[in-house]
Amino acid sequence: MSEVYFIDATEGTFTVEKLETLLEKVGVGDLKDVTALKMHMGERNNKTFVKPAYVQKIVAVVKKHGGDPFVTDTTTIYKAERYTAMDYYRTAFAHGFLPSYLGCPVIIADGLKDEGVQVTEKVEIAKSIYDSDAMLVISHATGHGASSFGGAIKNVAMGCVTKRTKIYQHEVTQPVLDTDLCNQCDKCREACKHDAISEDHELIRENCIGCGSCIAVCETGALKSARDMSPNLQKRLAEVAHAVLRNLPYHKFIFVNFLIDITPFCDCAEFAPEYMCPDIGVLASKDIVAVDMASIDMIGKHLFESDPTVQVREAHKLGLGELEYEICMV
Ligand code: SF4
Ligand code: SF4
Repeated sequence: MSEVYFIDATEGTFTVEKLETLLEKVGVGDLKDVTALKMHMGERNNKTFVKPAYVQKIVAVVKKHGGDPFVTDTTTIYKAERYTAMDYYRTAFAHGFLPSYLGCPVIIADGLKDEGVQVTEKVEIAKSIYDSDAMLVISHATGHGASSFGGAIKNVAMGCVTKRTKIYQHEVTQPVLDTDLCNQCDKCREACKHDAISEDHELIRENCIGCGSCIAVCETGALKSARDMSPNLQKRLAEVAHAVLRNLPYHKFIFVNFLIDITPFCDCAEFAPEYMCPDIGVLASKDIVAVDMASIDMIGKHLFESDPTVQVREAHKLGLGELEYEICMV
């Protein structure tokens, strides 16, 4: 059974100062030297990402205990305002993730040229994350249109790797086409930014990144998500999270999940949020499986589109952590 530390925010008693006690209880003193604070700084116009004020406090606590932190994330495979490192720096700064405010550098981990270190046939870890000495993973626990739940496992699997490894995970989210229902309206071709639909409305698989934009605009239902997309994606998330955490040249990790502003979609979504449930609090553990399992249990499995536990059960099977946990109040 793993320990999961918890700050309760349900009574409106959560303050940023409590993050210090949370981090001390979970063992922040173990994070020495260069420490990657891996997070998602929000797609442009997203409003629900973990706020810079919380990250500023985490930076201060890590420094106080001997770490040398930097805030980091990687570029996206979909073409928006985090597609290149330069795009991402502009978005991060616009969202308030300024080094002068945070008290540490902000480094896009796959660099200007999507640079990584290959650790398995399919998995390349973003260079600056590989080159660190420790990692504190800050995740915004949310629902997700494809993976049902997004927390620490998803943050590591999709967020610590290069574009090539993100595409590998998204292979299972490529749409399927029912030609009988297609009326040749071309809306999918207009929506696709990756030239992945031919003039004959055939899917060009090598170009498709599985973003789902075409499905969203197809009014006839000709384009659909693949059967078992969610469990298949969740299994890939667990596989890649395992490859990342077991092949980094260091083993000092802390996972902090914010169950605040809990939206049905992740922070890649630009549109105005709706909420799945009221704020719950902040969880921290050295066990990536336990922290995600506790997050799902606290939000409530029934609130997710499909079974959100596939990724945690798969990660547990791979040996990444325990499904059973004990909540330790902070
Ligand atoms: S949007 Fe749907 S109906 Fe229109 S061309 Fe594409 S697949 Fe066919
Ligand atoms: S074909 Fe659809 S899922 Fe694939 S890249 Fe284009 S819009 Fe995204």
